[in-house]
Amino acid sequence: MSSVRNLLILGSGPAGLTAAIYAARANLAPLCVEGLSAGGLVPGGQLMFTTDVENYPGFVEKIAGPELMQRFRGQAERQGTEFVTDDVVEVDLSERPFKVWVGEARTLHRARALVIATGAKAKYLGLPSEAALMNRGVSACAVCDGSFFRGQDVCVVGGGDTAMEEALYLASLCRSVTIIHRRDEFRASKAMQKRVLGNAKIQVLWSHVVTDVLDVAQEKVTGVRVKEMASGRERVVPCQGFFLAIGHTPMTELFAGQLAMHDNGYLEVEPGTTRTSVEGVFAAGDVQDWVYRQAVTAAGTGCMAALEAERWLGAQAH
Ligand code: NAP
Repeated sequence: MSSVRNLLILGSGPAGLTAAIYAARANLAPLCVEGLSAGGLVPGGQLMFTTDVENYPGFVEKIAGPELMQRFRGQAERQGTEFVTDDVVEVDLSERPFKVWVGEARTLHRARALVIATGAKAKYLGLPSEAALMNRGVSACAVCDGSFFRGQDVCVVGGGDTAMEEALYLASLCRSVTIIHRRDEFRASKAMQKRVLGNAKIQVLWSHVVTDVLDVAQEKVTGVRVKEMASGRERVVPCQGFFLAIGHTPMTELFAGQLAMHDNGYLEVEPGTTRTSVEGVFAAGDVQDWVYRQAVTAAGTGCMAALEAERWLGAQAH
C-alpha cells in the first residue's frame, strides 16, 4: 500500500502548478499528477496550444504559452514538487485519505488533501481546416489573441454569453466582427444581446453554420465558408481571425457523483474560497471558473487552494 501524502495536485496548468509552488514552499511535499493526454489536453494545459501570451503580468515582451508553462513547472520542481506524467483514471473521495488511481497500471496514490486543477477544454467545430489553422488565425480566446487582429475583420461562432463577450471585446480592437450563429436567436442573456446588437461594428449572420475555414494552403485564415441552414446556399465571409465561442467542457467527469457541480458541469466551490463540497478537497482554475478563465486568475486560485489546503491540514493535525 502506498504511503499517505499530505497533498496531491491533479492538473498542471497555471492553477495546478501555482498550487504546487506554494505547497512545496510550505513543506507539504506535494505530488502533482500532471496528466498525459486526457481529454485531448497535455501537461501544461490550454496554454500549451497558445503561441504568444502578451497579458501574463511580469513579461514585458510576449512569451510563448509552452515556455511560460515550462517556467511554471521548473519553479514548482525546484521548490520540491514531485511529478507523475500520466492521467488520473479514478478517484475515491468518500473517505480520507483520498484515493487516486493513475495511468493504465492504476497506480494508487493516497493523500490527506487534494487540489483539483484539471481545467477545461474549449469546444471546436471539428473541421480539419479549423485544426490546421489553429493559432494561425483560429482561436478560442479573444482576450488572449484578439490584439493580433487589430484593425482587421474577424468572425465569431456561437450564440451564448461567451460569444457576446468575445464579440464585444473584439469590436473594441477590430474593424468588423461577424457573429455566425446556427439559430435565429441567441441564448445569451438579454443584457449582453442588447449590447451586441447595439454595436455598430458587430453584424450577425443568423441561421448559418461554418463549413470550412480558409485557407489551409496559405497557412493563414483568409475567410470562412458559411452555409445558410434553410436554403443550403454557401458563400465565403472574408476575415483574418476566426474565434470559436461554442462553450468549454470542464474536466470533471472523474468527480461525478462525488463533488457538487453546477448544472453546467463546473465544480462548485464556496464563494470566495476554493473549498469544494468535500472537506479537504479544493478546486482551482478553469475547472471551477467559466467566467474569467485567464491564466492569471487560474494561478491566483491555485495559490488560494494551496494556502487553504495548508491551513486545513494544519487544523487536522491539531
Ligand atoms: P453556451 O451558453 O453553452 O453557448 C454555446 C453557444 O454555442 C450556443 O449558442 C450554441 O448554439 C453554440 N454552439 C454549440 N455547439 C455548436 C456547434 N457545434 N456549432 C455551432 N454553434 C454551436 O456556452 P458559453 O457561451 O460559453 O457559456 C457557458 C456558461 O457560462 C453559460 O451558463 C453562460 O451564461 C456563462 N457565461 C457567463 C458570462 C457572464 O455572465 N459574464 C460570460 C460567459 C459565460 P445554440 O444556442 O443553438 O445551442
